Amino acid sequence: MAQTRGNLFILSAPSGAGKSSLINALLAKYSDMKVSVSHTTRSPRPGEENGAHYHFVNVDEFKSLIEKNDFFEWAQVFDNYYGTSKQAIEEQLAAGIDVFLDIDWQGAQQLRKLVDDIETIFILPPSKAELESRLNNRGQDSQEVIASRMAKAQSETSHYDEYDYVVVNDDFASALNEIETIVLAKRLSLQSQAIRHQDLLADLLS
Ligand code: GDP
Ligand code: ADP
Ligand code: 5GP
Repeated sequence: MAQTRGNLFILSAPSGAGKSSLINALLAKYSDMKVSVSHTTRSPRPGEENGAHYHFVNVDEFKSLIEKNDFFEWAQVFDNYYGTSKQAIEEQLAAGIDVFLDIDWQGAQQLRKLVDDIETIFILPPSKAELESRLNNRGQDSQEVIASRMAKAQSETSHYDEYDYVVVNDDFASALNEIETIVLAKRLSLQSQAIRHQDLLADLLS
């Protein structure tokens, strides 16, 4: 089978809807999928490791990366800077690995303009009350931070209609299964299959 380029998937949602949990569960199941590790100026949460969850940098370092044109996209979210470096995704895609970006709507808007072939998924929580309770249960943000994330949930959600797919993360296993279906359908697209199975097709058509 011939090697195809990896696919790029964006997952966006209001904070606490379950993006990281869903991506982590997917990566645990498939060795040929990776998450892009963003740069951020926010402080690490308890348990977050530099280089694994994020590359944690200060504002000056972030600005110098912007000047060096190292970012595919970057945005200010919740008073912090977040960005996807070109390095975070290019090597993986070239190696045929599917890459997931956990980024906000501003980043998704930028990447849609830069990359033709990108699948975008918006995750909805089952209710406002459940969103708030997940942010509280995660137990990693202060009450102030939780209040500000709840206040921004509506503006993030207002961009849901810019996405290709919408998944409600009520029952975790069902939401995971729905995302898996989207990813597998993309892998089976004509464009990918024609490259992957070029030898088979050449043989069958000769
Ligand atoms: P982190 O940010 O990578 O530390 O992890 P998350 O905050 O995304 O998730 C915290 C933990 O909860 C992880 O171990 C997840 O696998 C787990 N988790 C997430 N969602 C669910 C769920 O719906 N049900 C159960 N049972 N566990 C979950
Ligand atoms: P995000 O990355 O979108 O900010 P997380 O993945 O950190 O969200 O999820 C927020 C919290 O909600 C975590 O504590 C996670 O364990 C929990 N969670 C995620 N999905 C579900 C679900 N379907 N049911 C219950 N809790 C969930
Ligand atoms: P958190 O602080 O909860 O990890 O992330 C806060 C928000 O920033 C989420 O909406 C997340 O999707 C977004 N985000 C994380 N990394 C990036 C990035 O590299 N670029 C953009 N545009 N948004 C990001």
